[in-house]
Amino acid sequence: MNYHKKSIRDVDVSNKKVLLRCDFNVPHDKKTGIIQDVTRIAESVPTIQYLLEQGAAVIICSHLGRPHGIWNPALSLASVAGCLQSILNKPVPITRDVLGSDTKALAGNLHAGQVMLIENLRFRIEEERNDPLFSKELASLAHLFVFDAFGASHRAHSSTEGVTEYLPAVAGFLIEKELAVMGAALESPRRPFVSIMGGSKVSDKIGVIRKMLDTADTIIIGGGMAYTFLAAQGHSIGTSLVETEQLDFAREMLQLAQEKGVTLLLPTDHMAASHFSKDAEPHPVDNCNIPDGYMGLDIGPCTINLYKNALKDAGTVFWNGPMGVFEFPAFANGTFAIAKAMAEMPQAITIIGGGDSAFAVEQMGFSNKMTHISTGGGAALEFMEGLSLPGIACLEDAE
Ligand code: AMP
Repeated sequence: MNYHKKSIRDVDVSNKKVLLRCDFNVPHDKKTGIIQDVTRIAESVPTIQYLLEQGAAVIICSHLGRPHGIWNPALSLASVAGCLQSILNKPVPITRDVLGSDTKALAGNLHAGQVMLIENLRFRIEEERNDPLFSKELASLAHLFVFDAFGASHRAHSSTEGVTEYLPAVAGFLIEKELAVMGAALESPRRPFVSIMGGSKVSDKIGVIRKMLDTADTIIIGGGMAYTFLAAQGHSIGTSLVETEQLDFAREMLQLAQEKGVTLLLPTDHMAASHFSKDAEPHPVDNCNIPDGYMGLDIGPCTINLYKNALKDAGTVFWNGPMGVFEFPAFANGTFAIAKAMAEMPQAITIIGGGDSAFAVEQMGFSNKMTHISTGGGAALEFMEGLSLPGIACLEDAE
């Protein structure tokens, strides 16, 4: 996939109607619809504000949750409209239908400097089906399409890909940054390139682990997935998380790392527990092997030092997945240590690949110390896997 795409800086938007696809799939209370975290909305504001300042009329669209084509008031974007309204300090009307007469009337009467929001696109089943008629109708509202929903870019839906069949399409500021930082990490990373992989399952990250064996100089493995690798090496892992069907894959990766000269680091000590609970007593294990009846829930202090050392001179660091069960305070040390080490590397390009690692970094107060926190979890993984993301591949290439 070409990572060099046209952005809103490269086109004239004045007096144009712009259809802007945002990612307003915000965490919300399933019953009341109340938004629990406005970060995604706030992050979209620079693109919206720029378009308005340049004299565009901005028609925003997004999905929220999984209504599967059924109108569901709990998944309405109404509270997002309210939130945007207070940030932008101007009215943000929301449509009473999705591409019905109300949407068409509101969009038709929208003037330069004004903004509106289309109700949750997934209230129409055609959105996820990437229905050509639906895409065409969506496109007919505007002169230009701007894509800024990285979290939805790995899906070929009407509002991510289909609409670009009918409108010129460019990137917003969020996509521009994702491409600039993560694209560079894949194309020409500042070396050494260290990739940190954690989280629960190997099976979720097979593609990205393979890709990193071709791209990174060092791969650090932690979290639940480390135990499948340790088991593959013949270590005892007690009752730790393991994917027996991935043992061959883990062996293959260990072998490949050796052949390619990539350093692959695994935990050498652990914080274990007798059971999976917030209140479980942390039981230090000072070697690779977890005793019977115990499960590894975090990396141990020697591993933390080993990993910090591997990061010391890195030029680029990409991190996806916690080093342990960071939701339990007694088992959050490994994840915290990695976040802190990355926050203290001003010389390096530090990239957080969305999802739980982004949440951990935010929770620990290190967000503003990272070069880039990706706005998409699944999409960031697919991007770093080197896959072509439908929502990005279809944007116009930069000249
Ligand atoms: P993922 O969504 O695959 O990135 O996994 C994130 C989840 O992995 C978090 O909820 C962690 O609690 C969990 N996790 C990390 N380390 C472990 C571990 N050693 N055992 C069980 N779960 C873990």
